[in-house]
Amino acid sequence: MIPSLFSAQPTSTPMKPPFDPKSFRARLQQLQRDLLALAKIAADATATVELDQARMGRLSRMDALQSQAMSVATCRRRDQQLAQIAAALRRLDEGEFGYCLECGEVIAEKRLQIDPTASLCITCAEDAESR
Ligand SMILES: [Zn+2]
Repeated sequence: MIPSLFSAQPTSTPMKPPFDPKSFRARLQQLQRDLLALAKIAADATATVELDQARMGRLSRMDALQSQAMSVATCRRRDQQLAQIAAALRRLDEGEFGYCLECGEVIAEKRLQIDPTASLCITCAEDAESR
């Protein structure tokens, strides 16, 4: 899921974010690069496993299948992370970054430093978890 580069329109009256959006943009873009690099390494590794499988015994084949299933889960998690990063970058473009999607309150900067893709304030996040 790669959002179009042309979909983000510059806003005419950008909201002033409560913190430096540039540093968060740089961090998100770095995260995005890291994840894409990891995805490429994983894709290469998966291809290797498939090639080796013909030569494997039953037990090692089970191991390979198991690790493959794990890498599928990792891959899915990575895709989710990439989607969250893309969404956070879009919010940065639209001047909505750092505001809770649920209640519109400013998300604590500490929370964003731990997870720059956070889209909910702590109250709404805890609320969503307990639901
Ligand atoms: Zn909220």
